[in-house]
Amino acid sequence: MPEGKIVKALSGFYYVAANDQIFQCRGRGVFRKRKVSPLVGDFVEFQVENDLEGYILAIEERKNELVRPPIANVDQAILVFSAARPDFSTALLDRFLVLIESKHIEPLICITKIDLLNEEEEALIKNYADDYRSFGYEVLLTSSENLANLDELREQLQGKTSVFAGQSGVGKSSLLNALKPELELKTNDISNSLGRGKHTTRHVELINVEDGLVADTPGFSSLELTEIEAEDLPQYFPEMVERSHSCKFRGCLHVNEPKCAVKEAVDNGEIPSYRYEHYLQFMDEIKERKPRY
Ligand code: GDP
Ligand code: ZN
Repeated sequence: MPEGKIVKALSGFYYVAANDQIFQCRGRGVFRKRKVSPLVGDFVEFQVENDLEGYILAIEERKNELVRPPIANVDQAILVFSAARPDFSTALLDRFLVLIESKHIEPLICITKIDLLNEEEEALIKNYADDYRSFGYEVLLTSSENLANLDELREQLQGKTSVFAGQSGVGKSSLLNALKPELELKTNDISNSLGRGKHTTRHVELINVEDGLVADTPGFSSLELTEIEAEDLPQYFPEMVERSHSCKFRGCLHVNEPKCAVKEAVDNGEIPSYRYEHYLQFMDEIKERKPRY
């Protein structure tokens, strides 16, 4: 039975990539009964009916699933932040990181528009980049204008299914266009920055960039931490995970507990205080949302 990956869904057809060919497939009725419909990104078994047409017979279990853009089995999220216009925000970055870690997607931080910075501003952004590298994240400083570090970005896409995420206006479409000019994605100039829904009617498609697959529609469903439990929050801060073994209490949430190795690391400057403050804010947000009886 041939196996492949759905790279596009359109008008009831699923386009399955297998052996360097694309098969136009329909889903068998069985999916409707089980209330699972095939998603772009799914690994499927299919049956070839004639030449490049066929039927999807089974969907492999998904590693994860995004709502916007609707894709399954995402390996990597390229978190796009701009160094300027709009200003770089660690609070928003930390929020994205938590959401992405909670979906078991590998984040890659991409700070773009670095061509807009003067020396002083660039030094500041480089400091932040080093902070995030010290937490264990991969960080790239890029520009779609002067093409800085785009080869490094291309390299990071190899062999993975990636999605671009980040606020409107940070430069996601510009990066995708720089990586793959044929895409001709519309970019968000200030004049049309209200046109936020412009991607909603588009069909998501996984496109080949070098040896990787990238969703042609950037996005990320929600910035709410509604699905995250307080006791899980620490595990989404890698620099806290490694230190938590030295906390006095097992299951330490690093808030009010005595002899907390995380708080000590904040006090002696090993963990930047902004990072810990965001952690506490998220913790408050999660606890407040708990139902009260
Ligand atoms: P998106 O909403 O995240 O897809 O952002 P866009 O790619 O539409 O970019 C928003 C605005 O920033 C547009 O006016 C782009 O021309 C501009 N822009 C994007 N990337 C860069 C960059 O690397 N350098 C500079 N100077 N401007 C950029
Ligand atoms: Zn602790």
